Amino acid sequence: MRGSSGSRAGGRVTMGRAPPDGPVPAPPAVAEGVGTYAFMQTQRGSDDPVGYDPCRVIEVEINPDGAPAQHDALVDTGLARVSAATGLRFERVGTTGRRPSFDTVSPRRSPVLIAWATLDEVPELAGDIAGLAGSVSWGQPGQMRYVTGTVALDRDYFDSLGPADLPMAQAVVDHELGHLVGLGHVDDPNELMHEDSLQRWTYGPGDREGMARLGNLDC
Ligand SMILES: [Zn+2]
Repeated sequence: MRGSSGSRAGGRVTMGRAPPDGPVPAPPAVAEGVGTYAFMQTQRGSDDPVGYDPCRVIEVEINPDGAPAQHDALVDTGLARVSAATGLRFERVGTTGRRPSFDTVSPRRSPVLIAWATLDEVPELAGDIAGLAGSVSWGQPGQMRYVTGTVALDRDYFDSLGPADLPMAQAVVDHELGHLVGLGHVDDPNELMHEDSLQRWTYGPGDREGMARLGNLDC
């Protein structure tokens, strides 16, 4: 996501509507066809998206090194919003020293990493790019599922933000979490998944429809 100039942004918390061993939560009913959405990846030969297995709890680790003071609240709020929109369940499993990289990804189940990165680590964050996120898919053709992912947020950008810019910081986090679970960019400024997404700071109707589909995949 591109950022504008502006303000800024451990534990074990379960979010979502069911405990990890409980019934599979259903994504919410949403209005269809009233917005725009796209997927990061679709199954071979179909329009069905690649997403996380909705029966799995998605474990999330944070690297607090370089993170803004409000990083716990930003992450908790973002995960709660994605959980509400998809039915996917997230569990924060603590902090980690792992650093983000989009070059060395191995397709095995491991916690999602959320970290505040430097340009040296993630050169794609140069310029006005405030964050980058993606997940790693694995499985049989037609049945690919994400098994882990990375959210890298621009340390310098978040450092430049002040307390009054918290909604903008949250919007960056929420946009990147949208990528994490499988939403791609759209050319519609009414959606948070617009590449620049400066016209709105919360998920739009198409974002919500796409996320409901991502939460409604087969287990
Ligand atoms: Zn983006």
